[in-house]
Amino acid sequence: MGRIYNFSAGPAVLPEEVLKEAAEEMLDYKGTGMSVMEMSHRSKAYETIIGEAEQDLRDLMNIPDNYKVLFLQGGASQQFAMIPMNLMKNKVADYIITGQWAKKAYQEAAIYGKANAIASSADKTFSYIPDCSDLPISEDADYVYICENNTIYGTKFKKLPNTKGKTLVADVSSCFLSEPVDVTKYGVIYGGVQKNIGPAGVVIVIIREDLITEDTLPGTPTMLKYKIHDDNKSLYNTPPAYGIYVCGKVFKWIKKMGGLEVMKERNEKKAKVLYDFLDQSTMFKGTVAKEDRSLMNVPFVTGDAELDAKFVKEAKAAGFENLKGHRSVGGMRASIYNAMPYEGVVKLVEFMKKFEEENK
Ligand code: PLP
Repeated sequence: MGRIYNFSAGPAVLPEEVLKEAAEEMLDYKGTGMSVMEMSHRSKAYETIIGEAEQDLRDLMNIPDNYKVLFLQGGASQQFAMIPMNLMKNKVADYIITGQWAKKAYQEAAIYGKANAIASSADKTFSYIPDCSDLPISEDADYVYICENNTIYGTKFKKLPNTKGKTLVADVSSCFLSEPVDVTKYGVIYGGVQKNIGPAGVVIVIIREDLITEDTLPGTPTMLKYKIHDDNKSLYNTPPAYGIYVCGKVFKWIKKMGGLEVMKERNEKKAKVLYDFLDQSTMFKGTVAKEDRSLMNVPFVTGDAELDAKFVKEAKAAGFENLKGHRSVGGMRASIYNAMPYEGVVKLVEFMKKFEEENK
């Protein structure tokens, strides 16, 4: 069987070129006679791999020198604790609740200090982004937290919240490198890489250097201190070495494709095909407020759970995998990350049209 179109929300499709290259280098990485998986993280060869990965990411995102790039472990979920442990100096933080991941981060922060839910879209099943132009930001808030792209619900902040001068912390797991960003608007940008960048297990944290201090909450484990990882250039302990190597290859692939402006154009073109179809279909409906639609995760429903299940089953048989919506919301979801080719979306829409015709 050849490769199928994989619409998984994560771990997700990666560029074929990257996978092939990694396969070619599996037994002998550039004449070292070993796989990167077998290589000491203290070796010259690995130093080059992680160094280039960081530099390529800096180039792609135009990361200023006063921001540090950390390659860490524990997935995005580990950051739900690491952020308050390192940033909650006043023990107060404001959270904007736009879905389950933001809610989990908020609940985790509440273990360590006063976490305030200052806005939420829970009233309409997280199908929109709340107005964030004039939020009740706490005077002593250490930071304001958002989940910038909501993987499960398919919404995205098109405009960052007005934090009234407070540090913005953003989980960008499902929109990492999908379009250009102005890093200077954030204190921390972080994300698990298993959607747009590489193998699960790596989380990348881009953090303004003044936020990295010795002054963490009492009892913070050494491994959860940003400072220890920064002081050791992400090599305090054995990093997820192979995963970082694959991330590095994806950074080079994005650079070769033309960078984040090109990614954005490609992603807009892809998403438009699907959203345009949903907007005129009499069977399938998008579930998100139009102005807040994500370019990465596109949820849709027929309104009939049985028909949804039939669609997912027939789509799978036709080579379109992982279209089932998140277990908490049902329906369908097509995740169309950077590596999903345009033809994949066009073919999916053709299949949806045919399904609609046959099941009128
Ligand atoms: N944040 C977002 C936006 C996600 O989509 C996910 C996972 O899908 C997570 C956090 C949790 O990531 P991890 O499984 O790496 O902890």
